[in-house]
Amino acid sequence: MSRFFSDKFSKLAPYTPGEQPKDLQYVKLNTNESPFPPPKSVVEAVCAEAAKAQLYSDPECSLLVEKAAETFGVKKTQLLFTNGSDEILNFAFMAFCDKSTPAVFADITYGFYKVFAELHGIAYKQIPLKADFSIDYRDYLGVNATTFIANPNAPTGISLPVSEIEEILKANPDHVVVIDEAYVDFGGESCVPLIEKYDNLLVTQTFSKSRSLAGARLGVGIACESLIADLNAIKYSTNPYNVNRMTMAAGYASLCEGAHFAKTCAVIEKNREYTAKKLAEMGFEVLPSKTNFLLAKSEQISGEELYQKLKARGVLVRHFSAERIKDYNRVSIGTLKQMDIFLENVRQILAEKEQ
Ligand SMILES: *Cc1c(COP(=O)(O)O)cnc(C)c1O
Repeated sequence: MSRFFSDKFSKLAPYTPGEQPKDLQYVKLNTNESPFPPPKSVVEAVCAEAAKAQLYSDPECSLLVEKAAETFGVKKTQLLFTNGSDEILNFAFMAFCDKSTPAVFADITYGFYKVFAELHGIAYKQIPLKADFSIDYRDYLGVNATTFIANPNAPTGISLPVSEIEEILKANPDHVVVIDEAYVDFGGESCVPLIEKYDNLLVTQTFSKSRSLAGARLGVGIACESLIADLNAIKYSTNPYNVNRMTMAAGYASLCEGAHFAKTCAVIEKNREYTAKKLAEMGFEVLPSKTNFLLAKSEQISGEELYQKLKARGVLVRHFSAERIKDYNRVSIGTLKQMDIFLENVRQILAEKEQ
């Protein structure tokens, strides 16, 4: 830290992204990216747009918003696109929390919620997940705070029924409830249809996981018009051109590829069920996932040791040191071939331990 760094930020503990090794030697199952490249039409749209990169992007993302309104079945005024969904989450902390309105979220959830709260000096409360790592929606009734729930949750993969989220919305009419649907496309249930009914609901989604665009950085917020207007006030006070031309074109082309999208999501779900079954056969406890990853632990080996041994063998998974989940590893779901390599290495590591 230099002596010039603002006091305000001197105690920040920034978010730690998963490793992004520079050599592509690894079977990379650590950051929940899609194993599939984006469809050709998306790549072509990006290239065509790059030829116009001397011009600013459209701050209103008009074409993309029009297409997305059609896809999600909402009005254009109910959408706001951002630089990844991390940005819409950041905007939500700025817009809907302050001294009198703290934030609440689970003790085991997306690590960025805590980082954003600390960045903005917002008080927060972490509500423990149940022993089985699911959320008890009753813990969130009448919390007098802005609620952030990843649904399905990360890194557990467990999803909460929309009917229970509706109870949370009803019990907190004077506070915003943010539902982070980063993984909803892998078998979860979306809250988007509820935005008509609840003016305190903000749903966030991302193109990073199910749409193979992690490197393009595109996220979206879906809410009633007045919440979107608030978020726009933050956007136009920070970065009006937050979505670049190439990404905007990629997002549009992606939304035109409905069949490809459905097919790749279905493959991931199938590979997830296959991997969960094989891990269970090897004695792992595997949490029930509706995402593109599994959280699993074995009695035979610690989470840290398995992570290290897999890494030494060229397979990257994600290990978290947080007390409640340190025995587990999070494994992103890749192609069947990648999952077989992962499973075979796990098998060999466990066999070595037995000798
Ligand atoms: C990956 C992820 C995000 C954000 O992804 P972006 O790449 O910024 O769109 C948000 N929430 C959760 C729970 C995630 O796992």
